Formats: sequence, structure tokens, C-alpha cells
Amino acid sequence: MADSFLDTPVEFLKGVGPERAKTLKSEFDIETFGDLLKWYPYRHVDRTRFYSTNEINADLPYVQLRGQILNFQILGKSRGQRAVAQLTDKTGNLELVWFQGLKWLSGKYLPGKEYIVFGKPTVYNGKINIAHPEVTEVKEEEIQKLNVLQPMYSSSEKARLKGLDSKGMMKLIRTLLPLAAGKIPEILPQSTVSSLKMLSREEAIMQIHFPTDTSLLRRAEARIKFEEFLMIQLRLLRVKSIRKTDFQGFDFSVVGEKFNSFYSHNLPFPLTNAQKRVIKEIRADMGSSKQMNRLLQGDVGSGKTVVALMCMLIANDNNFQACLMAPTEILATQHFQSIRELLRGLPVRIALLTGNTKQSERRILHEDLRSGNLDILIGTHALIEDEVQFRNLGLIVIDEQHRFGVEQRSKLWRKNTNPPHVLVMTATPIPRTLAMTLYGDLDTSVIDELPPGRKPIKTVHFSDTQRLRVFGFMKEQIALGRQVYVVYPLIQESEKMDYKDLMDGYESISRAFPVPDYRVSIVHGKMKPGDKDFEMQRFVRGETHIMVATTVIEVGVNVPNASVMVIESAERFGLSQLHQLRGRVGRGADQSYCILMTGHKLSKDTKLRMETMVRTNDGFEIAEVDLKLRGPGDLEGTQQSGLLGLRLADLTKDVSILQHARVVAAEILDKDPKLQMPEHSALVEELQREQSSSVNWGRIS
Ligand code: ADP
Ligand code: MG
Repeated sequence: MADSFLDTPVEFLKGVGPERAKTLKSEFDIETFGDLLKWYPYRHVDRTRFYSTNEINADLPYVQLRGQILNFQILGKSRGQRAVAQLTDKTGNLELVWFQGLKWLSGKYLPGKEYIVFGKPTVYNGKINIAHPEVTEVKEEEIQKLNVLQPMYSSSEKARLKGLDSKGMMKLIRTLLPLAAGKIPEILPQSTVSSLKMLSREEAIMQIHFPTDTSLLRRAEARIKFEEFLMIQLRLLRVKSIRKTDFQGFDFSVVGEKFNSFYSHNLPFPLTNAQKRVIKEIRADMGSSKQMNRLLQGDVGSGKTVVALMCMLIANDNNFQACLMAPTEILATQHFQSIRELLRGLPVRIALLTGNTKQSERRILHEDLRSGNLDILIGTHALIEDEVQFRNLGLIVIDEQHRFGVEQRSKLWRKNTNPPHVLVMTATPIPRTLAMTLYGDLDTSVIDELPPGRKPIKTVHFSDTQRLRVFGFMKEQIALGRQVYVVYPLIQESEKMDYKDLMDGYESISRAFPVPDYRVSIVHGKMKPGDKDFEMQRFVRGETHIMVATTVIEVGVNVPNASVMVIESAERFGLSQLHQLRGRVGRGADQSYCILMTGHKLSKDTKLRMETMVRTNDGFEIAEVDLKLRGPGDLEGTQQSGLLGLRLADLTKDVSILQHARVVAAEILDKDPKLQMPEHSALVEELQREQSSSVNWGRIS
């Protein structure tokens, strides 16, 4: 593999050299010929089409014209200096502008001569023009050769300084392609290529850069996208199958005393059908002698906590310990309290461990964990501190998993010599395509039903000027005995201003809702944990009517009596965050409301976000819109997707290709689980080539 053409350092390509090689590496992570070949163009420009000047408008992409370049003159002074000229053809004129290289330009374009001008029309000073056009002399014989779709490559400021703009990159790739001919091995099994009538790998790479025509370009794209998805799926499915075959999982076949007495005496409500189904799935998994790696998705309020608890009781019934990890102190504390309540009277020993657990308590707790005196440990990431040792940890439940990094999760994994079962719970609905890609190695369970009697939350969108009306509405609800959340965004970069917003808001609310008739709580990240908890508990117990907070309350807090969620500066929140926040209300039987407050002037995206929130309560629908708006790289909890190695393929648009790739990946692994057959050797090589630059797949669980 080391002497493969594709692994040749890019430095050795004619036109590169050590200097540019450094730039290629630092700017684009291109080190080898193979990497350069994968620097796919982001678009192609049709150089077969010539526009005439009277057809040009600023919405057109790159265009090509031919005509004479007249009236060249230099305008302005010093820094504002620019050169302008008129491109003249039979239909009229178009302005050309240059801001750099003016001396070099003057006298370069001769009147009477015909030129080809290529560039992107824009509007400048109210006039349409092309800035810094690419200009070439018309040579009829070369026009014949121009008969191509010209690739456009992305570049960077630093690379441009080294001559590696789109055109520079094109030149390098144009030099490389002929050398690569015959040296790009097929990596898919021949049967796959022929049954799918795909371009060969080599042909696809040639065509993606310099396509013969549009239809071959499309086929090249399809092949490359397919391959990108296939690589991901192969990796994920392989990890999954290795886990299933090579790891012995704990066998939790007993359903005993603890589970049963909880079920018959303590469960405060009948389970929903979805909860029952999911518990069954998890039970089957944990009783199969295979290690469970399961993702439990369920919209906010769907009742995941009780499901987690019942699974932990199964672990206890099989003489194993279980732990539940939550992303925030507040949430861990709340889990602890509600689980303690649910377990009242049962012989299950539970404890809470957070960053604030006192050293003395901590010591006892550690000791109890090691000796097996504790059945269930609930906590924050304090749980993954190294000194925490379990006697026999059998099940790890991770709540709101997107808050934990891959690294943190894998630390928990290593808490036992034998890997415990892992249940990852999330309320952030993950669009199917993303779930398939990011969590393709996890089995999935979905709670797709809310407990009965819940009324759908009504969502409205108000502008800041309507605040008095909102206050009036809050008073009505409080008079009915309900409680209200008012949430402010807190975004690190402008922390000071954000706190000011929060404190101003708190003041104006305190004025509008004065004691003794009203009481207002406030919770934010800068408070001491003890104070935070105290304020939170006052609200939980119903002693305060209004909770003014930053997003600390976003995740998991459960106050069923709260019926109004007011979100200030809602335009600053992402869709999934808005949906999470809204999920804090609508937990009791009363009609609940979510009020989105924004300024007057909104961007198109913001409008769409608000409209989506008003239109639907369906978390999956919201996640789909979110994915379309932001792209997978930005989605909360999916930071990994940027590392997935997708260059051409798009998780939102290429769903059918993804599904197809998943099927083919499964077929390949069915036939050859360890990828040892000779026909898969090129595939394995490519997988390894990609591996180094990629996520640590084995640990995403
Ligand atoms: P989430 O899935 O968001 O974590 P929780 O587990 O906090 O949801 O449950 C939300 C609320 O619904 C809690 O008050 C819980 O007691 C209640 N709940 C859960 N399951 C049911 C059920 N089957 N019937 C009625 N209420 C339920
Ligand atoms: Mg929860």
C-alpha cells in the first residue's frame, strides 16, 4: 500500500514542490495524490455556451462572453483605484472591473482584437459588471478545445496567495489525471459495479473533474456519493458485528423481585404501549448474551426516565449495578429525586454523585460502589472520574446523550473489564438519515407516543412590542394556579450582554409581577450550585410562580404544573433547542402554551424556524427542517458528522443513495464478515486509508 500511486506525496507532482505542498497540507489537508484527486470541484461551468452582453443579469452564475475590450481606463485614487473597461459585442456593452494589477493590465488588451471573457456577473455601484474576469484571446482552434465543462474548485485566502486559486487547483489536477490513468484501482466488488451499472472508480474520478458531458458528470457524482456512504456504512456495520460476535455481553435473563415489585406496587401509572414495547426490546437485547448498544429516542415528555429505571432494575435483579448519567447537575439531581420517589419502599440502594458531592460523602460512596452496597448510581460526568469504581457495572444509561462527547462515553465503557450494556437516551429527534449514519452501529428503540391526556402545546409567535399582552396572559395563567418559565438565550461570545438581558428581563418581570402577589425565581449558570438548586426547588415545589432562567433549564427539567414557556429572543435559538425548551411545559393535563418572542425584522431562516415551531409539535418534523436549514455539521450532538468524510454526498439530499449503500454494505459483510476475501482487498485498503483521518469509530457508542 505504501508504494501505491495514490499515496505518493503531492510534493512530487509537477507544479507543486515543497512550498505549495505545505500550503496544500495546511489549508486543505491534501498530502498525497489520492487526496488531491478527492479535491472535487464544487461546480462546473459550461464553457460551450457564449452569452451576449444583453443577456447578462447579476443572478447568472459564471458566464462566458466574446467581444472587444474598449475604453480601458483607471479611475479613483490610491486605495480606491480601479481599472474599468467595456466589453463590446454586437448586442451592447458590459463593464469589466479590476482592483488589482492595474499597471500590468494597462495596454494589455488591444482594440480591434476579440477576447473571451469569463466571470461571475455582480452588481457594483448600481451597474452590472464582472470583476476580475478571466480574459483570453480568441483563437478559433482553441475554442474547439474549450468544449468542456470547466471545474471550479474551492480555495482559501492563503492558498490563493500561492497561486492555488480555483484555476491553480485545476492546473494541478489536470497535470495529475493523465498520470493517474490506470492507477486508480476499483474498490467495489466487480459484481456490485456491474449490477449497478456504475462508472468504474477511475472513470468516476476522471469525469468528476473534467466531465465529457453532463450525463457522465451526474453518473460520476452518483458513483462517488455512493462510495462515500458505503465506506461509512461498512465501518459502522463492521463495528457493530465485531461487537456482537467478539464481545460476550452480560446475560440478564432474570426478571426478578425488584422489577416485579416495582411493576406491581410502585408504578404510578399504566405504561404507554410504546413504553411497553421499548422495555421488551431492551429486555430481549440484554438477555441475549450479546452486549447491548441501543439508542432510545423519545420526544420530550414521552416518559424515558421510567423506562430507564425499569431497565436498571433488571440489571439489579441479575446482581449487577447500574448507573444513570445526565448532562447537568440540575437534571441529575432531579432524576435522583424522582427515582427515589418511584422506588419508595423497595430494597434498592441508590445514590447521587455530582461535582458538588462532598469529599466525605464521596469516600463512603466510592466504598459502597466497590463493595456492591449500591445498586444504582445517578450523576453527572463526575461519574466518569477515574476513582469511581464499580463492583460489577452491568448497565449504563446515558440521558440526553448529545451532551456527552465520544471520549466521555468511551471512558464509561471502560469502567468494566467486560463492557456493560449501554442505553443511550435522547429527546433530540435525529432525522433518519443522520441516525443511520451517525448511529448506524446502534440498535434503535423509539417511544413514539406521549402518555395519555396530554394536550398538544399551543405555540404562538409575538414581537417584542406585544410584551404587555404576554404579561397579561401570564397573569391569567398564574391566577389559574399555573407556573411560567421565561427563558433568555445565553451565548458565550456575548456573555456580558446576555447577562444584562437576563437581569433586565428579571427586573422588568419583578416589577410587573410584584410581591406579595407574585414570586419570581431566577436561575443561571453563574450562580453557585447551591443557590441554583435552592431556586430550582422553590419553583418545583410551587412556591414561586415564575422561573426566569437561561438555558440551564433546557434539558430534562420536569415541573408538570408549569404551563407557559416564554422564550425571549427566540431568533437566537436553533430549532432543536426551541423544541427542547417547549418540551418543559405540556407535562401535566392542562393546556400549555409556548410563546416565542422576537424582534420585528427577521431573516428568512428565522421566519421559517418560527413558523415551523408554530405549525408542529412533532420533534421529527422539526429535526428534518433543522437539518435542511443548518446542514448536518451544525446539528447539536452531531459534530461528528463533519468528520464523516463526506465530500460530495449530502445527508439531506442523497437519502436514497444512502439507503442503497447501506443495503450493499450489509450484503458485502454478510458474504465476508471480516472482509478477508481477495475481491475485497482494495476496499479494505481504502477503508484504512480513510481511517487515519477519521473518527474513532469503535468508540462511538
Ligand atoms: P422524558 O422522556 O422527556 O425524559 P419523563 O421521563 O421526564 O420524560 O416523563 C415526563 C412525565 O411524564 C413525568 O412526569 C412522568 O412521570 C410522566 N409519565 C411517564 N410515563 C407516563 C405514563 N405512561 N403515563 C402517565 N405519565 C407518565
Ligand atoms: Mg428526560
